[in-house]
Amino acid sequence: MARADAHALSLDQGFRMMLYLLGPNETSFARDEDVPEYVEKATPFFMMLMLSELLIGWAKTGSLVIRINDGITSLSAGVMSRLSNLFARGLELSCYVYVWNNYRLVELPWDSPWTWWLTFLGVDLGYYWLHRLSHEVNILWAAHQVHHSSEDYNLSTALRQSVTQQLSSWLFYLPMALAVPPSVFAVHIQFNLLYQFWIHTELVGNLGPLEWIINTPSHHRVHHGRNPYCIDKNYGGTLIIWDRIFGTFSPESDKVIYGLTHPINTFEILSVQFSYYVYLWERFWSSPSTTDKLSVIFKGPGWEPGKPRLGCHSDLPEVTGEEAPHNPEWPLALQVYVTLHFFLLLGVYDDIFAMKAMLSPAFLLLMTGYIMSTLTALGFIIEKRPGAAVLEMLRCVLFLLFHKSGYVRHLIPMLSVPTEVFIALSALYWAARSFARRGKGKRKQR
Ligand SMILES: [Zn+2]
Ligand SMILES: [Zn+2]
Repeated sequence: MARADAHALSLDQGFRMMLYLLGPNETSFARDEDVPEYVEKATPFFMMLMLSELLIGWAKTGSLVIRINDGITSLSAGVMSRLSNLFARGLELSCYVYVWNNYRLVELPWDSPWTWWLTFLGVDLGYYWLHRLSHEVNILWAAHQVHHSSEDYNLSTALRQSVTQQLSSWLFYLPMALAVPPSVFAVHIQFNLLYQFWIHTELVGNLGPLEWIINTPSHHRVHHGRNPYCIDKNYGGTLIIWDRIFGTFSPESDKVIYGLTHPINTFEILSVQFSYYVYLWERFWSSPSTTDKLSVIFKGPGWEPGKPRLGCHSDLPEVTGEEAPHNPEWPLALQVYVTLHFFLLLGVYDDIFAMKAMLSPAFLLLMTGYIMSTLTALGFIIEKRPGAAVLEMLRCVLFLLFHKSGYVRHLIPMLSVPTEVFIALSALYWAARSFARRGKGKRKQR
């Protein structure tokens, strides 16, 4: 059960990894099995950088730059999007290895810096097109809109990832599998994703000449905007040159208003992840002709009959700058409760990933169910849904069972009894409050 790791990262390497500053000499491997799971190793760096953003933001503005409800929803989406990696390697790498094994035309040397740099460019170009089509094709947008559903813009927004995005993203990297070894691809597909973390912040202004070449916070703020000048702009991952070449670049000008043009107004994680598919399903069946049905799926999210493929910007809701983000009121006690339980869950999540090789698929499936029910319950509490108390009680009981099983080690024994008591009492407290509120509601109705 030791967590011994041949590829442990130093603090310095970790921060350089987050900025794509690890070079070929440190990150070239003969076999794809040897490539470290950099994204899983990044969790402490995500946390450190988000904490720094909170502190610097607080010092600068006097307020919290990450709202608890929005931040936890974003982190929950990030956790959910990684759960499939418990069972198999990512779809992107699996499909890539299949094509490499069966159809490769040449074999570029895995230990050449030329291969490393070529792959850096190839992955970034593949990302540009996958990202662009994720905005221009409605069925792909159904997955990608998750990332744009926050009305805030901070480091936590970077982690608001879609569960279903990887069902399509693998396709865009396959041409590289004809020549580039999977071990080189496996490094860059992770670094490309990790690089995009730090650019999700309002605390970094214009970076001068760097803005010409690399993707920066300023460029990516535009990408997350719903102002007309921001729509369908700045798709780049690490480099902004692709947007300049293919005509989708826009510099930052007016104050950016973040989020979807039609905000989803919820922090319930299943709605965040899947509600657009329901909307798409309804639009599909209510479209009269086969051509219209196909257009609903394959044209842009803004398309309507008689309109161009990507719709008209003039049809979008006006942006006044006065937009108030979705922010349901909830008492401080619940904010503390949800935050604490979310961080307990992160501990469990971290443990499961550290031990996944030693756990049976059935147990992993059970833990996935536990994580999903916890994230759903926390979202229900934030939105004050009627079923929140019952769901919360159920998943707390599940937690105690798992904890007793001895597999979940993160909560060190010294803390286990107080943790259990805390969980049981807080669940009871919440249930009692909820029932009392329901009782009051009934009395009022009479
Ligand atoms: Zn996007
Ligand atoms: Zn983003």
